[in-house]
Amino acid sequence: MVSVIVMKYKILEILKEADGFVSGEELSKKLGISRNAVWKNICTLRKDGCAIASFAGKGYKLDFAPDVLNPHNLEKSVPGRVYYFKSVKSTNTEAKNTENVPDGSVFIAESQTGGRGRLGRKWASPGGRGIWMSIYLTPEIPAADVSLLTLTAGLAVCRVIKKSQIKWPNDVLINGKKVCGILTEMSAEIDRTAKVIVGMGINVNNEFFSIDLIDKATSLYLETGEKHSREKLAAEILKEFFALYADFKERGFSAIATEYKRKCVTLGREVVVIKNGGEIRAVAEDITPFGELVVKTENGFLTVNSGEVSVRGLLGYN
Ligand code: ADP
Repeated sequence: MVSVIVMKYKILEILKEADGFVSGEELSKKLGISRNAVWKNICTLRKDGCAIASFAGKGYKLDFAPDVLNPHNLEKSVPGRVYYFKSVKSTNTEAKNTENVPDGSVFIAESQTGGRGRLGRKWASPGGRGIWMSIYLTPEIPAADVSLLTLTAGLAVCRVIKKSQIKWPNDVLINGKKVCGILTEMSAEIDRTAKVIVGMGINVNNEFFSIDLIDKATSLYLETGEKHSREKLAAEILKEFFALYADFKERGFSAIATEYKRKCVTLGREVVVIKNGGEIRAVAEDITPFGELVVKTENGFLTVNSGEVSVRGLLGYN
């Protein structure tokens, strides 16, 4: 089954790279499959929305390919496997519930019907517009360090998305609006290595947001006026993430601290810490080696843990 899926994407890649027609014979030779199998895969690609012209004696020519993610290509950027879905409730949930997943695998979907933020909040994940993915890790690090992976993921996204900044702990912003959110979840079972799932939602080609998100959400398209390849971006972000993650495993937070703090828009700002329904006004001062935010309040310094609070700028979202 897997090889059939991969074959379809391989054919698509060859057709994308070709200038004109590619003969059935050439495809069958290159891929080591029969011409009948080539034809079957062409039919599947057409069902997926690709417009492929075919002429006797000439072969096949790709006229249009919808912006769908190609898991076969993404696999080149990850140490594990890529689990691809057209639609899924939540890639984090899917990753959590799947057995025998190799470390460093990625769950990615065209759309999520129940995308989640922190504290049970919803994450809007419309089909084909963004990158909705979860990285599955089995790191041998203390539980207290797991939230640092959120910071690592934020930095990876920030490195790839130009003019973006990080809002501690888990958002990436452009011009003060959220272009990406990160949700890290962990499940530790007795006698099993802890699974850590780092979910990322990145708004790429969204043309609009619902009324409740208009003031705080943005997409790369809305910021640049240009549509972006989700696949290319996802690949770049994954490459950055796994490079940073390797560094982080070796040297801990110090591997990313300086760059993270430089890109963190929260530091030095007046913030409101929303905790247990109450609000505390403070100034964000620093980030601890455990990834907590140190804020200065009227009553002295307070260390804020990422799981339990939201931080808002005094003047708005960031
Ligand atoms: P917050 O950043 O508000 O502390 P989360 O990090 O948990 O909370 O993110 C969830 C929140 O993000 C939602 O309550 C909603 O306001 C906002 N949101 C939901 N979907 C999107 C999206 N696609 N882009 C940007 N923001 C979103």
